[in-house]
Formats: sequence, C-alpha cells, structure tokens
Amino acid sequence: MKVLFLFTNDLRLDDNLGFIQAIKESKTPNNNPATVLPVYILDRENPWPVQGASAWWLHHSLSSLSKDIHEIGGKLILREGLTHKAVQELALNYNADAVYFSRAYDPYTVSEQEKIRAWCLQNELACKRFPGNLLVEPETLKTQQGNYFQVFTPFYKSGLKLEKRRPQKFLKSELQASEIKSAALTELELLPQNPNWASDFDQQWFPGEKNAHKHLKSVLANIIENYSNDRDTPSIDGTSRLSPHLHFGELSAARIWDIVSIQLPFEKSEAFLRQLVWRDFNAHLLFHKPHIDKKPYKQKFIDFPWKKNTKHLALWQKGQTGYPIVDAGMRQLWQTGWMHNRVRMIVASFLTKHLGIHWSEGAQWFWDTLLDANLANNSGGWQWVAGCGADAAPYFRIFNPILQGEKFDKEGTYIRTWVPELKYFPKKYIHSPWTAPAEILAENNVTLGRNYPEPIVNHKESRDWALAAYKELS
Ligand code: FAD
Repeated sequence: MKVLFLFTNDLRLDDNLGFIQAIKESKTPNNNPATVLPVYILDRENPWPVQGASAWWLHHSLSSLSKDIHEIGGKLILREGLTHKAVQELALNYNADAVYFSRAYDPYTVSEQEKIRAWCLQNELACKRFPGNLLVEPETLKTQQGNYFQVFTPFYKSGLKLEKRRPQKFLKSELQASEIKSAALTELELLPQNPNWASDFDQQWFPGEKNAHKHLKSVLANIIENYSNDRDTPSIDGTSRLSPHLHFGELSAARIWDIVSIQLPFEKSEAFLRQLVWRDFNAHLLFHKPHIDKKPYKQKFIDFPWKKNTKHLALWQKGQTGYPIVDAGMRQLWQTGWMHNRVRMIVASFLTKHLGIHWSEGAQWFWDTLLDANLANNSGGWQWVAGCGADAAPYFRIFNPILQGEKFDKEGTYIRTWVPELKYFPKKYIHSPWTAPAEILAENNVTLGRNYPEPIVNHKESRDWALAAYKELS
C-alpha cells in the first residue's frame, strides 16, 4: 500500500500516530522499505498564514524534519499552494492508495482536511485522520448537559479524570525515497530578507524535533520543580519556553505529559501541567467557536467602543509607551520573538484597557512577531485579557502597569534588560520614571520625552475610561 502522509503542525517522528501507522501499514511482508510519501504544504491561502517570526521557526523545523526523514531513506516533499489541491495532485502522481494526516483544530485547516477526505472518498482512496497535538480531542470532554466546556476549571478537573494516552515511540524504519519533485526549502521564502531581523534568533532558539527533546530534558532538570514559584517572574528563566516547539508539534503534548508525570509527583508538576491544559482549552474553544479569531466570544462586546489610534498602536508596538514594564515586554518580543506570559497579559491589558484599542490589533501584531504564534492561544489569550473571552478576566481587572511591575519585577531587572535607557535607574522610580525628582532623572541621563518617553496616557484617566466603557455593557 502507498500512503501519502501530510504533515501539518506535527513536525516530528516521535508519537506521530498517523506517520507511524502509515509506515506500519505500507510495509511489505518481505520487509522492503515502507512506501510512504511525506509531504508538507505551505498554504498561504490560510487567512492566518505562517508569517513573520514563526515563519523563521517553520523554515528551520522543516529543515530538521527533512534531515530526519532523509536519514531513514525518505524525502520530504515540500510544496506551496492550496492544501487540498496540492494533496490531490501529489496523491495522483504518487499513485497513492491512501492519505493520512494528524487532525488540525483551526477552522481553515479543518476545512482543507475535510476537502481532502471528500476527494479521497470520491476517488476510492482510503483517508485516515489521527489525533492531533492535544491531550484530549475536542469532542471528548462534555459538561453534564452534554455541551462543550466554556469555563476552564471544570474542563481541567474533568480532563484530569481521563486516563492519559501513552505516547508512541518511532521505531527505526526505512522509507522508500520517491521520484516526486520537491520545492527547495528556500523557495518557500520563509526567512526574512532585507533586513534580516532574525539574525540573532539562532543564538537563542533551536528548532527541530531533536532540539525540542534536548530542551525538554533541560526543562525537566532546571525548571519544572520551581515552576510554580518562578513562573511569574519575567526576569528569570522560570518557564519552559517550549511554546514554539509545541506549536509546530516538534514535541507532542502527550509526550511532555508522560515524561513529566514519570519524573515528578503530580503535586510538584501540577502548575506546569495545568498550562498544557490551558493550551487544550483554547484549542477546544476555537474548535467549537471558530469565529473567535476575529469576533468576541461574548456577544455583548460586539459594539464595544474601541478607539482607533494608529499613533498609540505604533508606540505600543515599538515599546515606546513610557510605561517601562510594557515597553520592556514589547521590546523583548521584537528582539527575541517571545514574551513572558505575565508580561503578555500586562501589555495586552495596556493596549485594550489603557489605550482602548481593539484586541484584534494586538493579536495581529503578536501573530507577526511571536515565534509561537498560535491561533487558539493567541485569540484565547487576547480575548481573556480584554474581558470578552470565555471564562475571561472580569472587566474591572485592569492591570496597573506600575503595580504589576513592582510586584513581578521588584528589582526592575527585567526592565533594565530590555529598556537600556533605564539601566541604572533607581528601583524606587523604575516602574514610574515620571515620578522621579529632576536630579534623579539628570543623574541617570534620562530626559523624559527625549531619550525615554513620557507616559502616552494617564493611568487614572485611562482606567476610568475603561471602567465606564465596560460598565455600559453590563
Ligand atoms: P510555560 O509556562 O512553560 O507553559 C508550558 C506550555 O503550556 C507553553 O509552552 C504553552 O504551550 C502552554 N501554555 C502556557 N501558558 C498558556 C496559556 N496562558 N494559554 C494557553 N497555553 C499556555 N501561547 C502560544 O503558544 N501562542 C500564542 O500565540 C500565544 N499568545 C498569547 C497572547 C496573549 C495576549 C496571552 C496573554 C497569552 C498568549 N499565549 C500564547 C499563552 C502563553 O503566554 C504562552 O503559551 C507562554 O508564555 C509560552 O511560554 P512557555 O513555553 O515558557 O510557557
């Protein structure tokens, strides 16, 4: 049997149920190499195409997968185009008997996969869809009324009761290389050129399945046990930074859960594992409410009086708001392609509640700049902070950027790293430099409005505006 295996965000061999199954089923009794055609289609018709920082990651992840497949004798076929059309053409070319893939949960890929399924049915090809990269499929967990969960805690509790699937190891196999032509990876034009703003990324980030496993090992050794204490301190390496590996499926969530659970008792790993369930929760919400990438989950927000202010938006994007913790976060994002979760919440709250700008503007910027840009987590994260998501923060939770800074970056270490203008600023004023006496500003060579901005909005006035606007809705 000849199987076309379509890779999506499951760029790995380990615990890739569909790929492993395709190899098993296509092996002949006399142990000839398996006849599986591994394929990846870059589909720019997707309304949320891979772009910006995450395209950099994808390039390297595909390069790594391609090598891993080459090592077992096969060839990864790369194409650009409409997914279902490219699969049809390749399946015919390869004379495939079957098409297999891991299931996706975002609306566009779901619909492309449905088209593939329908075409296979019409053309008498077998088509198998395997579990994607969640811990639990979106149809599994149900409320007592039989609906999907809209609140995280009961979703979490109900998920914990399920027996977890054991991940499947990839057993060394041999693939038959095909004669089918692949696009060169460079033809996909995933890397930034002129300027190459990602030139530092490869000092900090190591995409690909093998690197993902190495990274997980170091997370197990150095992060997980202290995760619950350290996870809210952005100046230290207190979280796993596994998000881009997870997004592209270089590691399966089931594999991470399994390894962590074997190594540590649940009490010590719960805080970390809970985050993996948040990831599932967001994917479930997007699956059941596929419009939440653009429209508020809570209907009453549809006419919320968001402000249009391109100047403020640009200052927020560049990390020039005059609120140091916000600026530090936005600059960390721009320079490294990643931002700490606590700071993601602070900058998102600042954009939506202090500046009153629509959360989707922020989500779009994150989409372009995050290495881990993920439709479910990004839409879920933004809507949660803006107050319009499922199980969202209540409208009156307006993060105070000064207090948040004082609480989570006590010494100002995070700010000093990303906002060098304030590198030597005393701790007492670092979260609100505009309150510093003139001599402190002068001693530290800070002239507000010249080499570090004045706050672009007044905290109290913004908070009052947000509270009044949100109250109108209730
Ligand atoms: P860890 O704390 O080590 O957590 C382990 C894993 O759990 C993460 O890698 C991630 O896959 C998952 N996870 C952690 N926190 C969350 C969360 N709050 N919601 C869902 N899953 C979570 N995450 C993305 O992967 N892609 C995004 O595009 C994205 N956009 C976000 C936008 C906003 C406004 C906010 C507030 C959060 C967003 N998040 C997003 C969630 C979270 O910030 C990141 O997953 C996390 O910071 C990644 O760092 P880490 O791998 O060190 O996480």
